[in-house]
This record gives sequence, C-alpha cells and structure tokens, in this order.
Amino acid sequence: MRKIEHIGIAVKDLQASNLIFEKLFGAPAYKEEEVASEGVKTSFFMNGPNKIELLEATNPDSPIAKFLEKKGEGIHHIAFDVEDIVSESERLKNEGFTVLNEIPKKGADNKLVAFLHPKTTNGVLIELCQEIK
Ligand code: ZN
Repeated sequence: MRKIEHIGIAVKDLQASNLIFEKLFGAPAYKEEEVASEGVKTSFFMNGPNKIELLEATNPDSPIAKFLEKKGEGIHHIAFDVEDIVSESERLKNEGFTVLNEIPKKGADNKLVAFLHPKTTNGVLIELCQEIK
C-alpha cells in the first residue's frame, strides 16, 4: 500500500454537505459522480495533496444508507492507493484479512476498488484503490 488516496465521509444530503466542505476548503468539489451499482452519489474535494470523498445513499439498500442508520454521518472509510490491486488483495487475504471483493470493482473517480471487512481491521473500513490507466 502506498499513500492514503482519500478519506470517505458518509453524509445524508450531498448538496448541503458540498456547501459545508466548499466553505471549509475554500474551493468547490472538483467532481460529482454517481455509482449506480453501489447506490451512491459522490463528490470529491482536493485540499492541498489531500482528497475527501463525500458519499450519499441513492437508495435504502445502499451500504451508505445502512451505515447512516447504524452510525450516523461521519468517516466511512479510508482508501489507500495501491499499485496492483489484485496482488495486494491476495497478499492481504493471505495475511488473514477479509477482502470483500474477490474481484475488484469499478469505483468512482476512475478507480478499481476492493474493500477489507472492518471486523478484521479494528472497525475501520479500508478501501484499496488502483487508478485505471
Ligand atoms: Zn472511497
């Protein structure tokens, strides 16, 4: 794993939260994207070298809807940039982590992504992401 690629924050109302983060960073989201397969609408902010992803549920079965129901708004996941998501997933599986996506899937922002179950990572949902070239 290389650097933190972004931090994902679950929000109830993406448009309202966009305004808050725009004020916080002094710049608007550079991208908004819906990932229909995940039932989420996302927006991305850059602040210096750091990226923040906001996630809103688009249907009640979305993982984000379930997270909001259980925990409320807040940090949802930490994403790490990886060079090769397939070999890194394999390595982590062999180390005893539960990789939720045997086959990496297409995420937002031009990335292949796979998640590690938080029960094997001290309650933190970890996203691996590899840039699609
Ligand atoms: Zn993410």
